[in-house]
Order: sequence, then C-alpha cells, then structure tokens
Amino acid sequence: MNSEHGYKGRLRRILMAAVLSGSIAGCTPDEQAGDATAAGVQADNGAVGEIDDQRIIKHADEPGNWLAHGRTYDERRFSPLTQIDRTSVRRLGLAWQQDMGTRRAQEATPIVVDGVMFLTSAWSRVFAFDAASGKLLWQFDPQVDRAWSRRMCCDVVNRGVAVYRGRVYLGALDGRLIALNAASGEVAWEVDTVIDRDRFYSITGAPRVARGKVFIGNGGAEFGVRGYVSAYDAASGELAWRFYTVPGDPSQPHEHPELEAAAATWSGDVYWKFGGGGTVWDAIVYDPEFEQLYIGTGNGSPWTRAIRSPGGGDNLFLSSIIALDPDTGRMRWHYQTTPADNWDYTATQHIALAELTIDGKPRKVLLQAPKNGFFYVLDRLTGELLRAHPYSAVTWATHVDMQSGRPVENPDLSYLEQEQWILPGSAGAHGWQPMAVDQDGGTVFIPTQESPLIFAMADEWKNTGTYARDPGRWNNGLELGRFAQLVAANAPTQPQAGGALIAFDPLTGKVKWSVRNAYYWNGGVLATAGGLVFQGDAAGKFAAYDKETGEELWQFDTYTSILAPPMTYQVGDVQYLALLTGGGGGDMFGGEAPTAMARYGNQGRLLVFKLGGGLTLEQPQPVRKVIPEQELGEAGDADIAAGEVLYNNYCAMCHGLLARSGGSIPDLRLLSKERHAMFDAIVLEGVLAPVGMAGFGDVLNAADSGAIHSYIRARADQDRAHALGDIEAARMTWQTPPPGPGE
Ligand code: CA
Repeated sequence: MNSEHGYKGRLRRILMAAVLSGSIAGCTPDEQAGDATAAGVQADNGAVGEIDDQRIIKHADEPGNWLAHGRTYDERRFSPLTQIDRTSVRRLGLAWQQDMGTRRAQEATPIVVDGVMFLTSAWSRVFAFDAASGKLLWQFDPQVDRAWSRRMCCDVVNRGVAVYRGRVYLGALDGRLIALNAASGEVAWEVDTVIDRDRFYSITGAPRVARGKVFIGNGGAEFGVRGYVSAYDAASGELAWRFYTVPGDPSQPHEHPELEAAAATWSGDVYWKFGGGGTVWDAIVYDPEFEQLYIGTGNGSPWTRAIRSPGGGDNLFLSSIIALDPDTGRMRWHYQTTPADNWDYTATQHIALAELTIDGKPRKVLLQAPKNGFFYVLDRLTGELLRAHPYSAVTWATHVDMQSGRPVENPDLSYLEQEQWILPGSAGAHGWQPMAVDQDGGTVFIPTQESPLIFAMADEWKNTGTYARDPGRWNNGLELGRFAQLVAANAPTQPQAGGALIAFDPLTGKVKWSVRNAYYWNGGVLATAGGLVFQGDAAGKFAAYDKETGEELWQFDTYTSILAPPMTYQVGDVQYLALLTGGGGGDMFGGEAPTAMARYGNQGRLLVFKLGGGLTLEQPQPVRKVIPEQELGEAGDADIAAGEVLYNNYCAMCHGLLARSGGSIPDLRLLSKERHAMFDAIVLEGVLAPVGMAGFGDVLNAADSGAIHSYIRARADQDRAHALGDIEAARMTWQTPPPGPGE
C-alpha cells in the first residue's frame, strides 16, 4: 500500500504539513567546546584565504576553487568541473570523512581555496581542513552560551563563513560577527551586531564580502525583532552602514530616508513594539556588474497582518528583494514578493544572478524561489518584474499580475474568521536549502516542498481583540497552543505533503523533470558541467541525477538525514565533492516521518567523495524507541489539556509536535526516571542549559511545568499503549489523537 494513503499516510501528511519551524533545545551533551587550536596552515604560495573581489570575479581562472558562499558572486552553485561526469560518477566513492562532533543539524556550504576548506557546524563552530587529505588544520569555537538554543527558531545552525584577504568571517548564533586569521583561527576582531540585547536576535546565515566590507543580517522574527542588514569594514570591524528593513518607533526620527515611505505602508502601534520583522537571515548577494547588493527580507513580526498592521498596508519592506548601494547602504530599488505577508512567506531564500535571453533580448536578471511558491525573474538594474510563474502548488494566490507585479490573493482562503489549510505552508514551497542554476541550459534545480499548514488566528486575539507579546516564545499571531487539535479537527484539503527536486524553466514555468523525495524537508542542490545535479535527502540518500533527464546515476547511503547543499572543488588533479550531513533545523514534524535520522539518529559528519574513493560507512543500528511505563499521578484531563497548550507554545519547536522528536533532540517520551525526577529543575532552573536545554523560569511557573510534565507523560503513555497494541487505552478524551507508532 502506498504509504501516502490511509490513516498513517494522512497522519504523515498532517505532521509534515504544518511547518512552524522548530528549533532544537536539546540535551545532547555531545558538543565538546574546543578552543581555537592554532595548528597553523600554509598553502604552497604561503598565503591562506587570500581571496579578494578580483579573484571571485575572475573565478573562471580557477575553476577548482569554491571562493564564496554560492561558489562565486553570482551564487549559481554551478561548478565547471567535469572530472566527475555522467559516465564516471558511478565510480564516485567516499575519500575521507570527519565526525563533526554534533547531533544537531548542519547547514553549511564549505569554502575551498588553495587546498584549504573552511566550514561551520552547529553552535557556530568553525573548522579548517586540508581539502585533499581531510587533516584538521584548526578549529574555533566562539563559545556561544548553550542556553541560546531557546532563542533560535530553527536549531543552532550556521550556513557558513566568508573568506577574504586572509581572514575568515563568522556570524555567531549570539549575534557577534567575528573575524579570524585564516591561517591560525585566531580572533582578529569581534563586534556585536545586535541593536537590542533584550530581543531574541540570532545569526545563522553566512556573511558575504565585497568592496572591503562584510555584510551580515540576522534572524529572530518569530520571537519579535526588527530586521536590518549591516556592513562592516573587513579590516577593522568598524560599522560602515546599516539598513533597516522596517520602520521603528514612530516617535523617533527615521534612521534613513527610505523608512519614511515605508512607514506609510504600516498602521497601528503593534508592529514596532513587536519589532515588525523583515529579518535578513540568508540571501545577501553582491553584483559586481552593477556594483550593488541584493538582500532578501523575511516575514512580518507577528506573521498575521490583522494583528501586525490592523489598518492594512503592504508593510514595506517585508518579504522583499532590495537592491542597495554596497558602499553607502542607500536603496536603489525594491520589489515586494508578498505584500502584507500573512503566511511567513519570507523572501530570504537564496538569490542567484544570471544572464538569460528573454523575449529575444539578453537580460541581466536575478532569480529567486521564495517561500510563497512563485519563481521571480527580475531585471537586476531596475528591479522590473519579468516572470513570476508558480514552481510548486500554490493555493493562497491565483497568480501574479504582471502589470501590477502583485500576487492576486485567493479570497476563499482568508483565515481571519475560519482556520484554513493553505499551500505553501510556513515552511514555504522552498526553504533556505539552496537551488542551483544552469544558465546555459536555462534551468533552475529547486528542492521544493509541498507542505500545507493550517493557519488559524490566535485564540487570544479572537477572544480579546488583542495579542500581547510574550518575550519567551514565538509570537506569530497564529494559534500554536491548540495546533494539534486544529489539525485533528480539520481534515487536510490540500495536496499531500512531500518533497521533490525539480528542474524548472523560470521563463516558461515548465517543470522539465522532477524526482520525488520520501519526505518534504531535504538538502540543497549542486549542479555541474559534468552534466550532473547532486542532492542529499531526508532519507539519507546522497544522489547524482542526469541534469537533462533527472535519471538517477549514482547514490550513496549516508544513514542520516541531509539538509546542507553539496559543493565541489579540485585539489591537484582530483575533483572532490563535499557534503555535511545531519537533519533537523526547522522541522518539528519528523517524529513519525520516513527519515534516516528518525531511524538511525542524527550523525553530524563531513563526507568528501572522489572517483575511486573506497571508504565505507557502517550501517548504524536502528534507534529503538521503547517508551517506559509512565507514572501518571493525579493529573486530570484539564491539567493535561493545559499542559498541551503550554507544550506547543514553549517546547514543541524543539522537542517535536505530539512530544515525538524527529531524531536530533531528546524524545521526551523516553525520559528516564532520573530525568523525570529533575523535570522542574530542568524546565524552570535550567540545570541542563550547559548542554543546550535552556531554563524557562522567566516565563513558566511550577504549575506550568507540572502541566507540561503531565502532558508529556500522557502522550508517552498513549504512544506506549499503541505500541503495545492497546488501541482503546490509547484513546484519550483530551485529544483526538493521531495514531501512535505501529498503527
Ligand atoms: Ca520565518
């Protein structure tokens, strides 16, 4: 029976559906904090990490190096290397590997220059390896307070460094921008990029470098922050400029003139108290041809426009692509992909630069597949909209009107009065996982996801007409606390959840080929002149596809889930492929999913492949989830129901919906007697903060902790009964339960 049918399939769709992005406040004591070890490294010419603008611009002279986050300034993630091609790829094998010392998600793209690989792992740790042998050259741990996990929407991840003029630039989780000596890993300078330390700002994105400056944004819009991007002098760390993406406190002068016009598109006084959002947490791209910088901005804070800006308005510059002068930070143009964003449809997704022939004329364009499901082709010089075809299933809007450049919303799917299943969900039709662009072939390879969410206004707002900001948790204006109940009460009406790698023509909107993934949340993409497209998936498969047909030509089982994009480089006369493994990130629904991390646990590794590589990975034993017998105590249905709401508001983002962990964060159904005995000390006092489980004593009291504890025990007991085949015992009155394991 097809696993996507029937009750179990429906559950999977439900769980995969609603993507609220979960961070991981785990208890894995696996992160050994290492100081910078200055083993030292020197390339043959004596210089390490000596990348500058001209080297990146003239990348064609050194095809074996991967000089910037998306390989070059154009961020097409298309390598000209051809040693590994359609024919030879069948001999691809593992050359070396490193255990990265984490069970948290890994999302970085390594940078490789002159035989040295620079990359990041969980907790913003930086590593330099000999790119041919895999020898560790140095490592640096910025010693981020492990309690910071609570401030993350989507795990303690980092997507990579920038390397420039002998330095390595890191955006640390806690908002510091740090410059390291590329040869030794020693700190050259460090600055604080955060404007308000009372807010949950964080950095997960890779800095970008150009024109002597380092550009960095931040995340945190789910918790309530104001977005901005900053430019620092690469040599000194001095702040050069800052561009705010949304207006601030109206009683204060605007920080820069663009905000005056933006402020006219907002109303009320909620937005600036919440922060407004618009964080620049991933896409920052420098265009040397027009000497401008493009940034992608995130969702509103809160997500729901009725709360955020009750008088309406487009809420500039949320969910927008903005062109800035890289020297001054002044805006040249902007294009808003989702006016008055109401769905967490960020436009922070990776931006690529290309030249395409459009209507018979060569056009210098930028390409983006933001969360909202439409693929945008914009003229880079003017911001003119050239194409906006849907690249995935879209129900929130019917189309983008090419005259006005605005999406036409589907009025039937307003969720102001009535909850609605909507596609894409808040995970987007495309997440942060980068796409790859074959400019000559006119094809974009996109890791897409069909992942509907049930959108429902927060009960608090429905009942009182107001919505207070709680600094301790997500404040998105949706009803999170009763989320599982909303799902159970509303049969999904949307296409089933799942992922697909697609080969997409951005000019015609045609899908040339597609490959289904077993789960919706998969890895980024690499394409090569060898005729190949590489992607890792949630099931642990790292595969090469024929870029013309999608035919699978090679695969390797990594035995763990994959989010990071592969990259490729050459040292001497050998082409290598590198990939970080380890899933999680913004997925809180993996507990019942067909993922490798649910089956085997999360393995944070760096895998490097070459032709003829002969290393093998041992197949791990499947994780056995034996739920212990629970001491249910005196808790009644009302206590458990209250605990469910609290759990969903404060805990589910990390520990998973229905208390089912996806595989990287401890599964609370499996807690030992000892852990149960210290539950309040963990939750309220933060005794496990040093290993990543922050305390919540500032926002929860003993009664709250007790209710959450009762809910977890009840959930564990329910799933234990299912596992033992006692279906009747598993039916509880406080919740209409989706089935447990084994059904
Ligand atoms: Ca978001």
